[in-house]
Amino acid sequence: MLNEADVVILGAGGAGMMCAIRAGRRGRSVVLLDHARKIGGKILISGGGRCNFTNLGAGPGNYVSQNPHFMKSALARYSPWEFIEMVTQHGIAYHEKKLGQQFCDGSAQAIVDMLEKECLAAGARFELSCKIEKVDKISDQPARFRVRTDRGSIECASVVVATGGLSLPKIGATGIGYEIAKSFGLELVERAPALDGFVFSNEDAKRFAGLAGVSFDSNISCNGKHFHEAILFTHAGLSGPATLQASLHWHGDDPVTIDFLPGKDPMNWFLEKKKSGNRSLVKNLLSELLASRLAERLCELYFPDSKPLPDVSEKELRTFCELLKEWSFVPKATVGYSKAEVTRGGVSTDELSSKTLECKKVPGLHFIGEVVDVTGWLGGYNFQWAWASGAAAGDVV
Ligand SMILES: Cc1cc2nc3c(=O)[nH]c(=O)nc-3n(C[C@H](O)[C@H](O)[C@H](O)COP(=O)(O)OP(=O)(O)OC[C@H]3O[C@@H](n4cnc5c(N)ncnc54)[C@H](O)[C@@H]3O)c2cc1C
Repeated sequence: MLNEADVVILGAGGAGMMCAIRAGRRGRSVVLLDHARKIGGKILISGGGRCNFTNLGAGPGNYVSQNPHFMKSALARYSPWEFIEMVTQHGIAYHEKKLGQQFCDGSAQAIVDMLEKECLAAGARFELSCKIEKVDKISDQPARFRVRTDRGSIECASVVVATGGLSLPKIGATGIGYEIAKSFGLELVERAPALDGFVFSNEDAKRFAGLAGVSFDSNISCNGKHFHEAILFTHAGLSGPATLQASLHWHGDDPVTIDFLPGKDPMNWFLEKKKSGNRSLVKNLLSELLASRLAERLCELYFPDSKPLPDVSEKELRTFCELLKEWSFVPKATVGYSKAEVTRGGVSTDELSSKTLECKKVPGLHFIGEVVDVTGWLGGYNFQWAWASGAAAGDVV
């Protein structure tokens, strides 16, 4: 392993590689360290293997952070189109799936290969199977650091911490970035798994037992944020894109509200049926609007006295319809780091320059990507933050 470089980047994920490309192109000698044997592990498994590499609508409103303005500067200077230009130059076919989300037509491997080629073309070097242990500042003026690894030490003028979050420990996630931040006395915002869906309370788990695999279109709300996408029942709770989004905004005992029939007015619908002389049972009618297993379960739970429509009073119908439009529950927890797409929280943005991602207290030390307290919604926003924050640091280190 080299024992000296201008810039040492800790972590060869999306943020680290983008930083290496930008710094290398400026003529800096750059080394990327990673304990994995292969680079870009999360990119490879992202987007179901097709990598949702950006979102055309990415803006500050799509991120959660204690400082909702922090990400503005980096996002404004590195747009989704800049990444798309690189993708196009490398001849990678892609498409928009929905809601501005850009996916590879083929494998996510193409994105990893592209970043690797660009890193090597910029002169950056990879040191893989190399576990980072500690970072020390060995001189102030000029700033100089020593990065200790299980394969020896390397000295440099700038260190960029791009070690990601805690999600998916099985593919190499560790808390080393947070430990490095703590060792320099930096503040951390409490971390939690996010974009992982919900686990039901014991009572709700009993209520909805046996529905695993049932999905439905929904509006879900949590802490004033609303998402209109699919929800999927699992063995333990709820998953699906709408639920993943809501889990990003959920804390502790917050209630989550679900509209089982978005865009529909079930009360009017039932009244029309009633007027037309329909004599069906409510549960059978509801099966016209929802998967029958779900319709039956909702009736068993909240409309047990299932009667033919003409025998149901308007009051009974209204109470049931209100519940269908606004059913609330308090999850026991989110699913956890084993399934989470991201870690919410991280290195406090108060500690960093929003322009360069450099520590205010420790010149020469930068934090980029998921390790920072900037967490994107589901839909390509997290990679856009990885690219944008990586470019912002890479342009100055
Ligand atoms: C299943 C899944 C699907 C996802 N899909 C998408 C998607 O489609 N679109 C999207 O925008 N986002 C997606 N995300 C989120 C996205 O992958 C991350 O936000 C993004 O990869 C973060 O980039 P990063 O460079 O900050 O960190 P990472 O990509 O996590 O890179 C960190 C690197 O640091 C290395 N490292 C950690 N600890 C050490 C150590 N002690 N020593 C040496 N090296 C270390 C790791 O091996 C890793 O290579 C997904 C996440 C998951 C888990």
